[in-house]
Amino acid sequence: MKNIMFIAPPAAGKGTQAELVVEKYKIPHISTGDILREISKEDSEIGKYVYETLASGKLVKDEITYKLIEERLSRKDCKNGFIIDGFPRNIDQAYEYDKILKKLGYNVGNVISITVDKKTLEKRITGRRICENCSAIYNINYENSSPKVESVCDQCGGKLYQRSDDNLESFETRYQTFVEKTEPIIEHYKKQNVLTEINGDDTVENIFKKIDKIIKN
Ligand code: AMP
Repeated sequence: MKNIMFIAPPAAGKGTQAELVVEKYKIPHISTGDILREISKEDSEIGKYVYETLASGKLVKDEITYKLIEERLSRKDCKNGFIIDGFPRNIDQAYEYDKILKKLGYNVGNVISITVDKKTLEKRITGRRICENCSAIYNINYENSSPKVESVCDQCGGKLYQRSDDNLESFETRYQTFVEKTEPIIEHYKKQNVLTEINGDDTVENIFKKIDKIIKN
């Protein structure tokens, strides 16, 4: 199994697609956003720093992400492949990731860039709701992905919540950060001949078909 990396703007659907890949290929999903959201709940100085940075839509300090990525990739369950989502987020992180991979004896695998236009992302951001129990993702701005009962998870009955950074103000910062800092890493992976771009303005099923084809190739 090849390793997989997603590069995509906020709310392009990388979390949803990552879960589908996990289900089919049984590999771990490593999301720096998810790990940082856990850290942000800690009652400590670092917890407070991460909470505030996430809510603002800015990136946390690179050094914090390096430690947690190296620790996570060193675990046994990554030996047969993994899907990395949300890292690297800037060119320094991309260079550091090359070093971490080399140190651990891994290849970058398939890098998949998912593109979606800004207006669509705004609609997705404001409607996104997540189950606090099983992390299932819904979107109340789209009929076919709304929960059957408002604020209740269809799958487990858990309560749905909205991420603290899923508002238009944070979105604007996150989107600009993506354009200025994250998009340049696309070139880095083009040069390595490992990048495939796909259009993410499509149904969840169709996007997954495209991703699955890339994985199987
Ligand atoms: P995500 O869930 O990927 O949208 O990430 C949510 C937030 O976590 C981002 O807006 C950043 O504040 C932070 N974050 C996630 N990954 C990184 C990273 N690789 N470097 C710095 N900050 C990150």
